[in-house]
Amino acid sequence: MRDGTLEVRMPLIELKNVSKLYGFGDATSVALDEVSLKIDKGECVAVMGPSGSGKSTLMNVIGLLDHPTHGDYLFSGKRVSRLSTNRRSRIRRDKIGFIFQSFNLLGRLTALENVALPLLYGGYATAKRNQASRAMLERVGLHDRCYYYPRQLSGGQTQCVAIARALVNEPEIIIADEPTGNLDTESSRLVMELISEIHKSGNTIIFVTHNPELTRYATRVVYMQDGIIKHDEATKLGEVGHYVSKFMYKVPTASEEDDLAGVSALMKIRPEEKPAPAKKSKKTSTKRRAKRKTKRKAAA
Ligand code: ADP
Ligand code: MG
Repeated sequence: MRDGTLEVRMPLIELKNVSKLYGFGDATSVALDEVSLKIDKGECVAVMGPSGSGKSTLMNVIGLLDHPTHGDYLFSGKRVSRLSTNRRSRIRRDKIGFIFQSFNLLGRLTALENVALPLLYGGYATAKRNQASRAMLERVGLHDRCYYYPRQLSGGQTQCVAIARALVNEPEIIIADEPTGNLDTESSRLVMELISEIHKSGNTIIFVTHNPELTRYATRVVYMQDGIIKHDEATKLGEVGHYVSKFMYKVPTASEEDDLAGVSALMKIRPEEKPAPAKKSKKTSTKRRAKRKTKRKAAA
């Protein structure tokens, strides 16, 4: 309620029975099968599921790179499923930032020029483009790499440039299709921390991942299978999704974590620093006495 009027919360994204078919006749494949999904502003949604389950198709439809064969798509309450290519690309340019597994940077352009590309398409003057792109590279921690070419950067740095490019238009939504798919563990963490920071600053994020650990960055996990949403759950930031830990992945239990902590503590003890033997507790010796007594009785 605000000023006595009822505030109606409209989802940022609303898919209503959206299907996407490829091919014709016998060769038709159903990539999305009547999918309905609402995503609110400020959510950070992880999309999981086996290869071929329709995750990328869903990202492409949500990101207006592709249009549904059947069904409706409302973006900020506006019907966009049947818009012309031109109008779709305008919404895409102004409202949506993309991050891909393969980074998709242009090799003959510097980091700064790559980041500035969306602004070039937006018709901004050179000075404004450079200023905004430099600020974005600074935000992703690469202010000293402005004039490097993609081949001179590590995988993690390349993906950070791609993130800066996705952010330079100040989009409402960031769509990331397996953003860490080509990265090692440490670079994946770096990239996800950055995406998480963007989420915390108010952006809506949708990311595809195969790594259950990365659902810790999400506030919701959507599981796809054979073109449908098999499961959809809200999760706490910092926790692995329940469904993924129950059916797809074993999260270390507290005792296992303690064991691991114990092992690493043990590794730190050098031979000359052996701890003094622990004193026998009274309880244990009483127990032992009782045990010996029973044994004697049994032998008699
Ligand atoms: P995922 O990202 O979960 O691996 P995709 O969305 O890429 O799955 O694919 C879903 C299904 O749609 C798959 O069976 C795939 O072969 C099919 N598909 C995707 N894109 C195309 C295309 N351009 N032409 C034909 N079939 C496609
Ligand atoms: Mg995919």
